[in-house]
Amino acid sequence: MVTTHNLGFPRIGAKRELKFGLERYWKGESSRDELKALGAQLRQRHWDDQKDLDWVPVGDFAFYDQVLDMSFTLGNLPERVQDFHGDTLDNYFRVARGRSAQAAEEHGACCGGVAAGEMTKWFDTNYHYIVPEFTADTQFNLDTSRLVEQLREAREQGVNAKPVIVGPISYLWLGKAKDDSDKLALLPRLMPVYCALLDYLKVMDVEWVQIDEPVLVTELDPAWRAAFATAYESFETRGVKLLLATYFGQLQENLDLACALPVDGLHLDAINARDEIEQAARQLPAQSVLSVGAINGRNIWKTDLNAALDWLEPLAQRLGDRLWLAPSCSLLHVPVDLASEETLDAEIRSWLAFALQKLDELKVLAAALNAGRRAVADELAANAAAVYQRRHSPRVNKPAVKAALARIDANLGNRASRYPERAPKQAAILGLPAYPTTTIGSFPQTAEIRHARSQYKAGALDEAGYRAAMRAEIERSVREQEALGLDVLVHGEAERNDMVEYFGEQLDGYAFSQFGWVQSYGSRCVKPPILFGDISRPNAMTVEWISYAQSLTRKPMKGMLTGPVTILNWSFVRDDQPRSVSCHQLALAIRDEVLDLEKAGVRVIQIDEAALREGLPLRRAQWGEYLQWAVESFRLTANGVRDETQIHTHMCYSEFNDIIASIADMDADVITIETSRSDMELLDAFDHFSYPNEIGPGVYDIHSPNIPTEAHIVQLMRKAAERIPAQRLWVNPDCGLKTRQWAEVIPALTNMVAAAKVLRGEVVR
Ligand code: GLN
Ligand code: ZN
Repeated sequence: MVTTHNLGFPRIGAKRELKFGLERYWKGESSRDELKALGAQLRQRHWDDQKDLDWVPVGDFAFYDQVLDMSFTLGNLPERVQDFHGDTLDNYFRVARGRSAQAAEEHGACCGGVAAGEMTKWFDTNYHYIVPEFTADTQFNLDTSRLVEQLREAREQGVNAKPVIVGPISYLWLGKAKDDSDKLALLPRLMPVYCALLDYLKVMDVEWVQIDEPVLVTELDPAWRAAFATAYESFETRGVKLLLATYFGQLQENLDLACALPVDGLHLDAINARDEIEQAARQLPAQSVLSVGAINGRNIWKTDLNAALDWLEPLAQRLGDRLWLAPSCSLLHVPVDLASEETLDAEIRSWLAFALQKLDELKVLAAALNAGRRAVADELAANAAAVYQRRHSPRVNKPAVKAALARIDANLGNRASRYPERAPKQAAILGLPAYPTTTIGSFPQTAEIRHARSQYKAGALDEAGYRAAMRAEIERSVREQEALGLDVLVHGEAERNDMVEYFGEQLDGYAFSQFGWVQSYGSRCVKPPILFGDISRPNAMTVEWISYAQSLTRKPMKGMLTGPVTILNWSFVRDDQPRSVSCHQLALAIRDEVLDLEKAGVRVIQIDEAALREGLPLRRAQWGEYLQWAVESFRLTANGVRDETQIHTHMCYSEFNDIIASIADMDADVITIETSRSDMELLDAFDHFSYPNEIGPGVYDIHSPNIPTEAHIVQLMRKAAERIPAQRLWVNPDCGLKTRQWAEVIPALTNMVAAAKVLRGEVVR
């Protein structure tokens, strides 16, 4: 018999209950007990949803982040919060977000604000975890309270509980040594705490523990590989069984290592590492469990169950009871329940599976393996029909789009001339001073903008009324920018709620869910649009707004677009063709928009690629391939314009060291990047690589309400000028200003423009 289990369940709630509960508590509108009760209620509901599984994850619920939970379990709290006397949950929020809750803070000074823990992306997902902090002196102290509480609850509910913990090597790997010490050196101190935890779980009569070691899918240094062997050796004699879980990729050179560790089972992500299942089945010790993640835990498409059974059946024959079945990874990365969707197109909906539907698929697969396909003939037939229909739907397959893609040739992505020839032509037309000033696109999304949008969506404001309201906002932005004396203006993006959704809504091949929320970090969720079919652009998407904005001023107005790679990386993407193909389709659609803007007389066009870097594969060996099609897609989008048209791109980060050559290869005339928070340190990349075109290193940290001073901006730009010739520097904020208030933006940009004037005094352009 095959055993079914799940690696983790989305905790946010089908209607984002946890988000709203957290925010109520943080604002002081509800009590800590109410929040804790909500957590218990969500856990109970989610276990109930999973009760048919043989093993149900416990400990995957977190009020903020599962890695932060692990830090608390291991007693690894940053020093700045160690003297806290209040409730642990409040201290937990202090690490997560710098403060606990308004109500808690009234209790005394000990609860006050601290620096929030650093947050970073969980492997190649859009989930962000709180980075564990280490120093050479870090000590660990076991705190089993959270895990034990959840274990008790689960047992009271009668589910078969399998505690889930982050393994020791991944835990260290995910953290950061604040004093630059060697974090791996902490392993001897960490292991006794892990062993004590397992001993404790043994005493609690736990049979299986899922120990997550996703770092096994990355390229590990020899020291880290060796650490695996050492660490797991000390687990060998513990009384609980360990299921070592890997996900998000192939193990490759780490597969031998994983198979040889003294654990009782290994979970492989069969979506990304299908090829390795066979080898693992051969190599695992004869009594070990092989858990196969046969259902994609990262996307929202129905599994082709019959196709999965084709390869699972022989495996089940061979492995018998040793075969376990699960989603590929925690379901944290998918929305909860498709049944909540009321407005989604019925046909598209029939192709989808959210977390609950994925668990249903798991049950069907297990039933077919245990009792034969005939036992679930109806379910399999329905699934086959949906899969067939999706594959052949004319809404998915557009011959015209495929034909356009086939016509792509190398020239399509090339500018007519090289940058040194284009630059003077652009300068002649734009007539910009040295150190030109601009902003990244958005201006504050004011209460009036949000009000007009929600009225419009609710039907209380008609289209004409909504457009008039947006035009008024655009006019306001333009007037403010003229008064500030900025050189290249933007329209302010009032009409956009989101830089991807705005374009997705206007492209053919995209669908939108109502409740398809996925946790991004803490209480923050995103609702990725669903790219289901061949992409085309029925109509111009931005030309009217930009032309209107341009009509209000004699200064150059930047057209503002989101690039294909970013649109792709922030969507749920179809799985029936390579991502590169979908990206090229997006590129051709946005290219048409670029050319329409140019035709409409727009002389500067910015194409944001905020998410290009985060799409990098987990393994460096695969970076080249990704960068090739990503850069090619950008070039296709941008480079059809005349020499005179100036192309900008923007990226909200500047860890460029590894990829700077690819970024240069995009051949944008101007790139704006984030640098102010790091004091221009991040421009180090430019020491070893002479970036050929123009750069605007951000000088105003828009994530903070602080107003940068003129002197500070001048100083930052002087640092930049040490690396990049002044003739090629722009002065701009780090990112868009939509989350700021006008009252902050105006003084900040006033200082920025003043700083640019000081700098201009220092160069001759
Ligand atoms: N143009 C966008 C804005 O200004 C860019 C946002 C981003 O890079 N995340 O809001
Ligand atoms: Zn940005």
